This record gives sequence, C-alpha cells and structure tokens, in this order.
Amino acid sequence: METEAQKTRTGSCLCSGVQFEGRLKDNHVEACHCSMCRKWSAGPVIATPLDFDSVKFKSDSSLAWYKSSEWAERGFCSQCGSNLFYRLQDPEAKLLICMVGALDDDSDLHMERHICVDGKPDYYEFADDTPRLTSEELFAESS
Ligand SMILES: [Zn+2]
Ligand SMILES: [Zn+2]
Repeated sequence: METEAQKTRTGSCLCSGVQFEGRLKDNHVEACHCSMCRKWSAGPVIATPLDFDSVKFKSDSSLAWYKSSEWAERGFCSQCGSNLFYRLQDPEAKLLICMVGALDDDSDLHMERHICVDGKPDYYEFADDTPRLTSEELFAESS
C-alpha cells in the first residue's frame, strides 16, 4: 500500500508551460512569512518538499530560475509568472521544494508549522494552532 505522500502527483504552472510529476516527502506543508517569500509571491508561501529523485518534467520550456540568495534559487514560469519551486544551488543537497498551489491535487495535505513569523505583517492571521517559529528559531534548528 502506498501512503498518500508516496503517490505520484502532477503539477503545473498556470499556462502549462511547466508540467511535472513526482512524489512528496510527506503530506505536510509549511508556511513561510519572510519578507523575501512575501515579495516573491505577494503573500505567505505555502510549500512542501518533493522526493527529489522522483521528479520528472513533462515540460519545462518556460521554467526559469532566479538566484534569490547566495545559496538558493526560486523557480517560476517565465510565461505566466507562476511561482513553482525553491531549491538549494548545491545539487548534492537534493532539495526541491514545491509551492503547493502548483500541485493538481493538494486536498489531503496538512499544515505542519509556520516559519519566519517575525516577518509576518499584522493584516492576516492563520487559524490553525501549529507551531510558529521565528527566523532565529528556524536558524537555530538548522545549525
Ligand atoms: Zn506558465
Ligand atoms: Zn520565506
């Protein structure tokens, strides 16, 4: 029996210039409220890591990457502007995070936590009671 996270999911940008499939690492999503994510997507980013080796592109003709920091790049469609991926520049890291809105089926996913909440403005609030980490707490966790 495959778990829900292990099933192969399909995803695309708004214009379908980018079409991909792959499995998720788990069925949890994380919301990032940092100023970079909010500038990039016009709101908080809700995303989930893909199982790196399972990812295949059916079309990537309009997929473009923006180097947003010394270590990371953000993938988007150069045709329709959809925000799609976040990855580390080091391919050895095998990290590819997918913006959940790009998935065709995200109905069974659950919020795991919120990160960089110190970057969140006061005009919105999520109603779930999952953990809220500041960027400092997140940094402490990963180092
Ligand atoms: Zn597109
Ligand atoms: Zn962020």
